Amino acid sequence: MSVLNRFTWEELLEAMEREARKRRAPVYEFKKHITTPFHALVAVLLSSRTKDETTAAVTRRLFQRVSSPEELLALSEEELAELIYPVGFYRVKARKLRELAGALIERHGGRVPSTFEELIELPGIGRKSANIVLAHAFGKNAIAVDTHVHRISNRLGIVSTSKPEQTERALHELVPEELKQRLNRTFVAFGQTVCKPVKPLCDECPLAEACPKVGVPATPVRGARSRAGRGRGAQ
Ligand code: SF4
Repeated sequence: MSVLNRFTWEELLEAMEREARKRRAPVYEFKKHITTPFHALVAVLLSSRTKDETTAAVTRRLFQRVSSPEELLALSEEELAELIYPVGFYRVKARKLRELAGALIERHGGRVPSTFEELIELPGIGRKSANIVLAHAFGKNAIAVDTHVHRISNRLGIVSTSKPEQTERALHELVPEELKQRLNRTFVAFGQTVCKPVKPLCDECPLAEACPKVGVPATPVRGARSRAGRGRGAQ
């Protein structure tokens, strides 16, 4: 069973978006500070192993000081580390950001390239990050598969995969071209607010009736344990 037996892709994304916006998903707040491809690239590097709320606060502060690779490179590694604290691994990321800015200037004249092949050649940018930049900054039909997309696609029965790369390949076959660009942000927002990694809110979920909840442990019925306990004791 798959949620797609009851919803079209368009309906599915709309239902997820509506619920996530109602619950003020942090990813939508974060998006407000991302206005250029350079911002998107920096934000994606900062966001790994960091809560979205923290990335949102740090990007807001950083982008008030820095709006180009040249401006970023003008800061020392220490200044940069101080500016991006407390994102995870802020010292390593300060070094990586300077390397990234240097590569943009040297290889691309200070501009962010708009192809997957060029993006993944940049220091600190992997497959997922490249796809996020392509989808969010350039509006391309790229699918960035992170833990939210991988987990929710499996729970909804859309794919049956064990690795994010398998999920990415499967989704490329399944998602209509014109909707691919929306998928990552919508799934992330829904994963932050409803279909959470631990304890998803199935009781409050607008997809609950159509969702097979693959891999989600059944919620214990309230009072079941005490009733069972009483039953055993009576034997
Ligand atoms: S019903 Fe539960 S598992 Fe399915 S999408 Fe909703 S929160 Fe996730």
